[in-house]
Amino acid sequence: MQSAGQWALYILLPKTCFACSADLAFQEAGPLCKECLPQIKRPGPLICRRCGTLLPDGGAYCFNCRGSKTKQFKCSVIRSAYVFGPQVRALIHAFKYQGYCFLADYLGTCMAQEFARYEELSGVDWVMPVPLHPKKLRARGYNQSQLLAQAFCRNSGLVLHTSGLIRRVDTRSQAQLNRKERLQNMADAFEAGPEVKGKRILLIDDVATTGATLEGCALALKRAGARQVMAFTLAREP
Ligand SMILES: [Zn+2]
Ligand SMILES: [Zn+2]
Repeated sequence: MQSAGQWALYILLPKTCFACSADLAFQEAGPLCKECLPQIKRPGPLICRRCGTLLPDGGAYCFNCRGSKTKQFKCSVIRSAYVFGPQVRALIHAFKYQGYCFLADYLGTCMAQEFARYEELSGVDWVMPVPLHPKKLRARGYNQSQLLAQAFCRNSGLVLHTSGLIRRVDTRSQAQLNRKERLQNMADAFEAGPEVKGKRILLIDDVATTGATLEGCALALKRAGARQVMAFTLAREP
């Protein structure tokens, strides 16, 4: 039973859906309305075995990961909880740029539930968020990937490790860069400490686009002796 106080609070502060701005019904939990929530899609089953990109026509690997190219990548597997559609975009935007940090708890919990689907991501020693450059961290006040990773670990029982990987170059925005330029842009952007030696690491980030950021992290971790690097993101750009 809801108390009169909760009802009064609902009247004063009606909650709205983060994606379509429709008012949520009393007792509807949010952050999305019952129209928007079912529109969130999971990737697969037709995805690239290495990078997780959607393969509508099937096949084992995408063009970029095919054949001898598979082994060149330091990040051996990338998987994502959801496809980056309008509803997921709205949630990420709200918690990344509008300060709705509490959404990270919700989304990290969702990630832990989806993670259970991926056997290929098992055997993890440490979960590590993709770090922000200190300058960006000061400007934003928090690292969105770290908030996701915290909630993810609380709900999955995996071990969070937030030191040992730093972003030493404040890389320029990748939006205007092509795939090759993104990989170059990220190649020396990160640095890992000796404590990662021999560890199997799962990187956490909000969105995987080309996987260049994850590959940059993986390169640094492998250079420092990590045994394996995999990645799990909240969303996958199709
Ligand atoms: Zn909605
Ligand atoms: Zn691929």
